[in-house]
Amino acid sequence: MIDLHIHMGGAVPAAVLWELLSDSGLQTDFKTFDELEEYLTVRPEAIHNLDDFLNRYFHGTELIQSSPRTASESAYQLVAKAYRRSGRAGRMHAVEIRYNPLKRVREGLHTLDAIILATIHGLERASMHYRVQTGILFSMGKEFSHERNAIIVNAAMDFGGRGALKGAHGVVGIDMAGPESLLNDSNVEWLKVVGKMIEPARERGLGITWHVGETAHSGPDGMEAVLEWIRPQRIGHGIELRKAEGKQKERLCKTLRERQVCLEICPSVNLITGSILNLREIADLIRLLTSEGIPFCINTDNPYIIQTNLRQEYDLVAKALGEDAQLINQSHHHASMHSFLAGVRNRH
Ligand SMILES: [Zn+2]
Repeated sequence: MIDLHIHMGGAVPAAVLWELLSDSGLQTDFKTFDELEEYLTVRPEAIHNLDDFLNRYFHGTELIQSSPRTASESAYQLVAKAYRRSGRAGRMHAVEIRYNPLKRVREGLHTLDAIILATIHGLERASMHYRVQTGILFSMGKEFSHERNAIIVNAAMDFGGRGALKGAHGVVGIDMAGPESLLNDSNVEWLKVVGKMIEPARERGLGITWHVGETAHSGPDGMEAVLEWIRPQRIGHGIELRKAEGKQKERLCKTLRERQVCLEICPSVNLITGSILNLREIADLIRLLTSEGIPFCINTDNPYIIQTNLRQEYDLVAKALGEDAQLINQSHHHASMHSFLAGVRNRH
């Protein structure tokens, strides 16, 4: 099994974060383990949308992960836990983790280079210890200035292409994450600037994925604009495709099919943020993707915060698909084909 969409800020257990925080001696609002655990416990009734979700949890986890040691250990523990939780029946054998390195420098207290090198090293250890292929995607921020996003893209190019060490591929791609409510995904002028910014990274072989079509804020219009101006190989979520109608639906499906853009579907987090009302919406979307020949894969997004793992996500979708449960098997193949990691294609 392969997980192509997992955020470092939402995937490290509270116990690990607490020990790192305690050892680092950083002063925070979390005075006890219970306070930190409570902070990281999802209360679905308090989450009304994606913005609520992003604002509620990540400031704390990003703060704790903001040092070379804590970033390295977080990356390591993320992979170790995801591997163990995948179960012996179908071990996770590859994972791409994503994070925003500029959100982990503690306002310049640490250098970007030190943070990045530390996460690379954490994943080298994880790849060696658990025999899991690993790679890193740098997430730019929709709420960031162009100057700050350019720093992230340049860092990806600096650190990309280091080659694989025992399955650890280092930096393999770029992502765009953050609030869709800023409406940047439909802002052509904004997209043009970012599209130009990432072009050299694409030419150097880095993969491009982009969070869009997760909520009605970007919707099918945002997906179309991102496909036109960013040309990502994969899309984070893209579930708003289900709301496209008529000519727009035809156009979107055609583009996704012809370019074989893989939708990274993360069912449970969409439920928690209220982006979908139930998993039947995901099941219907998978039927549509299958009939249209559009690749998709199942992922966890923030497995610790939303208390899930890759096996559970597959099981939930299979159950929602009912008699079409076998459709889920394509996900393994598509995840393998569309991973930015080299050399994982022959292993399911
Ligand atoms: Zn995500």
